[in-house]
Amino acid sequence: VRAEAAARSTGPGRTCDGHPVPLLANIGGPQDLPAALELGAEGVGLYRSEFLFLDRADAPAHDEQVAAYRAVLEAFPGAKVVVRTLDSGADKPLAFLPPRAPEPNPALGERGLRMMRRHPEILRAQLAALADAHRDTEADLHVMAPMVTDVEDAEWFAAEAAAAGLATAGVMVEVPAAALRAARLTDAAAFFSIGTNDLTQYACAADREAGSLSRFQDSWQPGVLELVAMTARAAREAERSCGVCGEAAADPFLACVLVGMGVDSLSMGATALPLVRAALAASSLAQCRAAAEAALAARGAAEAKQAARDALPGVT
Ligand code: PEP
Ligand code: MG
Repeated sequence: VRAEAAARSTGPGRTCDGHPVPLLANIGGPQDLPAALELGAEGVGLYRSEFLFLDRADAPAHDEQVAAYRAVLEAFPGAKVVVRTLDSGADKPLAFLPPRAPEPNPALGERGLRMMRRHPEILRAQLAALADAHRDTEADLHVMAPMVTDVEDAEWFAAEAAAAGLATAGVMVEVPAAALRAARLTDAAAFFSIGTNDLTQYACAADREAGSLSRFQDSWQPGVLELVAMTARAAREAERSCGVCGEAAADPFLACVLVGMGVDSLSMGATALPLVRAALAASSLAQCRAAAEAALAARGAAEAKQAARDALPGVT
């Protein structure tokens, strides 16, 4: 199994019995492309577009946005590139879009799509730049909205994307309410991408910026796994794709558990790609499913992780 895993340390992601799991890169901009390409990313699962907007007095102009998006799209001809629209708020403040009022809990404030609904002109400009950047490239552009909470949010975003000529609009599932309502979100969402960083923070009521809550700020928490499983199930029933783009996808054991729950692509910082690729190559789909079942049955995060390890003997 090890030799086989080593042989598959490049190439597309798949389990040892051939179940494909595209392995995609999380990027913050064109500067992250060389590592993603070098380490064999099969596309981009999360382009955190806010880096283009931070630390500047004015919003980036149309041409500047088009150039940044086009550089990413051109690097992956024929491949999926998922661009997340601006995810800003008091946690990631923009000089040109100050919060409406001081927010004592920025993570629970007006961030992500909530901010865009108050400033639709910024989202519209971004979607227009994405549509222009996509023209004449061969990438399979997907756009998705951060911090979607309900069907109304998803419908609003899909309508804005459609108006810009972008047909493949999906939602990030990172607010527990969205995971709980995943089955109802499928009409308005072309796909789901689960953001386990925020989903964990909100499901476990544990600030992701606080260092002292590590037992709860842990995507192995069975309550988080349950939300992921629900979301993946709803997606499968509605024939929607469902990826994970939070840090959970970068943990080789947890990556296998996610696949066992029905997650169909994994996106991570490029440096994690080889280990996750090797973990999948060393496990069968049945082992991933058994690991998922064992983790879901656990009493806490540590037990979930140990149970999954026991079910995945090929992963080191
Ligand atoms: C997440 O919340 O899991 C996610 C991928 O988005 P970010 O880390 O940028 O909030
Ligand atoms: Mg997030």
